[in-house]
Amino acid sequence: PANHEKYEFQAEVKQLLDIVINSLYTDREIFLRELISNAADALEKIRYQKLTSQEIADADLPLEIAIQLDENNHTLTISDTGIGMTREELITNLGTIAHSGSRNFLKYVAAGEGRDVNLIGRFGVGFYAAFMVAEQVTVATRSYLPQAAGWQWSSDGAGSYTIAEATGLRRGTSITLHLKEDAREFAREAVVKRIIKQYSGFVPFPVLLNGTRVNTVQAIWTKNKNEITDEEYTEFYKYLANAYDEPLLRLHFSADAPLNINALLFVPKDNFERFGFGRLEPGVNLYCRKVLIQQQAKDILPEWLRFVKGVVDSEELPLNISRETMQDSSLLAKLRKVITSRFLKFLQEQAKSEPAKYKEFWNNFGMFIKEGAATDYTYRKELVGLLRFASSRAADGEQVSLQDYAARMKEGQKEIYFINGPSREVIEASPYLEVFRDQDIEVLFTHEPVEDYILSQLGEYEGKKLVSIDQAGLALPATPKPEGDVLNPEQVKELIEWLKEVLGEKVTEVRESTRLTGSPAIILNPDHLTGSLQRMMQVMNRD
Ligand code: ADP
Ligand code: MG
Repeated sequence: PANHEKYEFQAEVKQLLDIVINSLYTDREIFLRELISNAADALEKIRYQKLTSQEIADADLPLEIAIQLDENNHTLTISDTGIGMTREELITNLGTIAHSGSRNFLKYVAAGEGRDVNLIGRFGVGFYAAFMVAEQVTVATRSYLPQAAGWQWSSDGAGSYTIAEATGLRRGTSITLHLKEDAREFAREAVVKRIIKQYSGFVPFPVLLNGTRVNTVQAIWTKNKNEITDEEYTEFYKYLANAYDEPLLRLHFSADAPLNINALLFVPKDNFERFGFGRLEPGVNLYCRKVLIQQQAKDILPEWLRFVKGVVDSEELPLNISRETMQDSSLLAKLRKVITSRFLKFLQEQAKSEPAKYKEFWNNFGMFIKEGAATDYTYRKELVGLLRFASSRAADGEQVSLQDYAARMKEGQKEIYFINGPSREVIEASPYLEVFRDQDIEVLFTHEPVEDYILSQLGEYEGKKLVSIDQAGLALPATPKPEGDVLNPEQVKELIEWLKEVLGEKVTEVRESTRLTGSPAIILNPDHLTGSLQRMMQVMNRD
């Protein structure tokens, strides 16, 4: 028909659809989770709009999600009374990849082997999962803006889609999937019911299946801790984070002073940033009395806690606070302070009570703690307490804290020692360690420049200087003078003169060593930059 305008999908979408349609056959049922989660997002948005704007189309519609199945015609239709989409929004939201993270998904699935379709929602391309089970997808939608017309979007996923005006629509979005022949089970009530229960039990709006409600709506974070089971927490986490793993850590707390807060925070099991998926988006949603104010709120936690997933609900936030002015709200700053401090305290407690878990946390997420320790002075003290290092006293793969170190320092030892090296083997084979081994003094091993940076910036821990052992002038008792056939002072002087001549400008000084027992010579740093930091600065100065 003439009023059907045809559009090409953006190239990346085409690529994505090609993969979705032709090579993802397992776990197809997650398409429903993605569509329900989009419907819930659209409902959260309208709930928010209702608080802040005057004019909303069909203002009295109940906020809910309805799924209608037709086994004879092999269709599944999911409708919501959410925010809807304008024509322009249809084109950008369903025809292009808007999120920066989504290109990473393409890279990820295109890499083959073990691609996990479960991750699709995390990358902000969940809608396209519909094409795993449908040969034709039709979207009928009408925006909440009172003057907006209704539109119908339709595609078989093969490269293009059509848009036409549609009359008689109420506010919200209705998506109909014409199921592929091998996906007809998704029109069966028992199957769909199981999927909803499995993946979408925590959707904060009623989900109706063929007219009957299937979920129980609850804002779990406002409930009492002892009313919630571990399973419920885990289900909620999966819903919230679009995750399929179990959370590694969980903190559920409420406070009345200085602010009224209900918070439920999770640390995932896996760190996708570490696996090279690009930078994580913040993962905490901000609510006020169970109304979503901001999804993935930027300012609720410092950037270095971007791996944390969860919900923060505070009654104190003015309901009509606009998303734009939120940034400079002093209230938000207070909220951030309380939550960040509480979370860091929680990590500290975990380290004590669950060392094995903390170790797992550290191995996966330690990079964020280091980032915080290196960049954020506000929480430096707390962060330093969370740091872990390899050590001459710890077995390979084990780590120690500065507190551990300080507690077992030798009598008379005044400084805390560390040394950087690419690996334990390299460090252990170096002459730097010699005197420390002889005198049985612990040395922390750092393997990344950021660790040296933190320790150098820190300068001291509980009054003890932090010293890199590649530096000259350590406050160590001298090793006993070797006896027997040794050089006399005159010969030593001559040797030093000769070395200075040979080495020229390569060295600033040559000295008789008081720390070596086995090795003939050692190169030390005259100033207070560790070797690894000097190398780092050389690299930076090169550009
Ligand atoms: P994401 O949900 O991560 O943004 P999706 O691919 O699932 O990514 O959805 C893309 C976009 O399409 C959404 O951000 C939203 O703007 C729009 N959208 C999808 N479903 C709906 C819906 N039911 N109502 C309104 N907008 C929707
Ligand atoms: Mg989505």
